[in-house]
Amino acid sequence: MEKFTSVPNKKGPDDFMVAKLLGEDEESTVVLAQDVSSGKYYAIKILDQEKLSQEDKLSQVKKEQHVISRLEHPFFVKLHYTFEDEKRLYFVLSYAKNGELLSYIEANTYLPLECAKFYSAEIVLALEYLYGMHIIHRDLKPENILLTDDMHIQITDFGTAKLPPENRTNSERTTSFVGTAEYVPPELLTTKRSCASSDLWALGCIVYQMLTGKTPFHDDSEYFVFQKIVSRDFKCPPAMNEDAQDLIGKLLVVDPDDRLGSARQGGFDRLKAHPFFRGINWQNLHKETPPMMH
Ligand code: ATP
Repeated sequence: MEKFTSVPNKKGPDDFMVAKLLGEDEESTVVLAQDVSSGKYYAIKILDQEKLSQEDKLSQVKKEQHVISRLEHPFFVKLHYTFEDEKRLYFVLSYAKNGELLSYIEANTYLPLECAKFYSAEIVLALEYLYGMHIIHRDLKPENILLTDDMHIQITDFGTAKLPPENRTNSERTTSFVGTAEYVPPELLTTKRSCASSDLWALGCIVYQMLTGKTPFHDDSEYFVFQKIVSRDFKCPPAMNEDAQDLIGKLLVVDPDDRLGSARQGGFDRLKAHPFFRGINWQNLHKETPPMMH
């Protein structure tokens, strides 16, 4: 098993006291744990080494660790330490105390306009940063947008991210289906390739979802979801704010080069200048007090 070396790993499992289970699936367990010496809380993602090698998931996990360790921005989960014992790998991550954005959308049915605008703007800044790093997230959705103690976003889950070519591993298949059906951009379905503007499609889906409580392309079966995506078959409710409708219409564009925010469409400056974002303080958004979700 190769060592994980790019992040300081002076700590070990005994330095943390587990407070509670945050989540568990077949591949990993995430716990809330307290650093005994500093008293600080972290989310620790724990992976079983044997299962990883059996299922050939090691390269995916290594990539996720590699990507997160490169991100230095307030809107992303931070990787503080990594370590391992004979059985497990541990990723010690910043703890996003308020959990998933999805829970807030579901609890409110949909978000008030001011909240949707604020969180859309935070996601735009996060995507602008990723674009500068030549990273495509590829699984952007409200489950992967966590909220900190003071209700700012922290994006997580880089297991399916696409890296710049020089950082790709040989085992990485660039043409495989990745992501979550309802947020998948049409280019991934038609050409099996994602591109720099693919996360902008997901942004369009998330803005729609924040304002309506539903994703724009939903159906009982994945097959029909994909049909709707490739034919851009969606409708904004007529009562939706007009600027929001216009923004969503310009993000959910089938040709990725014609999507607002893409290089050909004036890049992130033009996206940030869209009337939906009027009044947003782009310079200091992470220091502002987010509007109340109720
Ligand atoms: P995946 O889609 O990769 O299977 P998941 O949705 O099962 O991921 P995990 O990343 O395994 O989520 O996390 C499990 C649970 O722990 C989720 O409810 C997630 O919101 C929560 N969680 C994960 N990381 C953090 C974190 N840094 N801070 C707070 N909660 C977290």
